[in-house]
Amino acid sequence: MKKINVNAAILLTALLTGGSPGARAQSVPAPVPEKVSHEGAKYGHADSTVVEILKSTYPTEHFVFHFAEDKAALKDVFSVLEKAYGRVTKAFRLRPAGRLNVEIYPDIRTYHKRTFGENSQEWMVGNFDPDETVLRITSPNHPGTYHKYKDIMRVAVHEFVHSVTLSYRGGSRAGLPVWLDEGVAIYYQGPMDDGAAKRVKEAVAAGKVPTLAELDDNFMKYGGYAFSGTIVEFIVKNYGETKLMEFIKEPAAGERIFSVSEKEFGDAWRKYLNGNYK
Ligand SMILES: [Zn+2]
Repeated sequence: MKKINVNAAILLTALLTGGSPGARAQSVPAPVPEKVSHEGAKYGHADSTVVEILKSTYPTEHFVFHFAEDKAALKDVFSVLEKAYGRVTKAFRLRPAGRLNVEIYPDIRTYHKRTFGENSQEWMVGNFDPDETVLRITSPNHPGTYHKYKDIMRVAVHEFVHSVTLSYRGGSRAGLPVWLDEGVAIYYQGPMDDGAAKRVKEAVAAGKVPTLAELDDNFMKYGGYAFSGTIVEFIVKNYGETKLMEFIKEPAAGERIFSVSEKEFGDAWRKYLNGNYK
């Protein structure tokens, strides 16, 4: 597999699986960078002092939550992450050391101010910061105009999967294609979003499924959030989870791990889509 360096300090979750269901955007709001660095001033500047408003702390078995609201208002976030913990860490056969810090900002404006800047876009509601090992989300009670309450639950799990993926790789994203990193987070965040499935089906019907090279080249442009989860699904169904884990650890060894050429792998994925996303 092609080697891609993903050096961004922060890998951002845009849209869970390529957009939300319902009347909202049916396509990825482009062009938007998948990766935003700490230094990037595209959306304004991050203000780390905003964290001070998170006065409350609630440790659960595997997480430490920091927030500004009434504890009862966030109970779904606490439970969705604790529930996901067992499932995700079992898949990776990895128990991350210590508890993961989760910062829940009281509304999307405050979240933006702390993370990517006050001019961030409405779909930007969660991220995992590998430098500080912190998962940050906006409160599901004030998710902004793009996402709904339940979307934030999936974002929380999605970002947690990113954190486990990174731990599994010894803290490095070097050589990890964005479509694999995102595909894994999307696959393990839960059942596939209806909107994403619809977009994949439409692309299959129109013969417009992107190649892996295109997803490497411009993840957002080619609808990476809709397609990448299906690549991981294809790997799990055809080769099994053990092979997927080997591949996550060593993406450059894909041809050896799956015993196929890169081209054959891409063709087999397309065939899988043709058979399963009609
Ligand atoms: Zn992501």
